[in-house]
Amino acid sequence: MYVVCAEHLDRAIDEFVEVYESPPDLYILDEVSFTDWITPSTCDFCDRAPHYLVV
Ligand SMILES: [Zn+2]
Repeated sequence: MYVVCAEHLDRAIDEFVEVYESPPDLYILDEVSFTDWITPSTCDFCDRAPHYLVV
């Protein structure tokens, strides 16, 4: 699972496909909420606010 900014979305998808050998599902963070999961405040690859969830 990756939480990334727009700039690193492609990188997250590439890594996901490499690891899981199948395309990920994409979600826009503002549009999803999980009761037992706190959205990270930064992208997995940089210090910017994340916008996408790649799972
Ligand atoms: Zn980023």
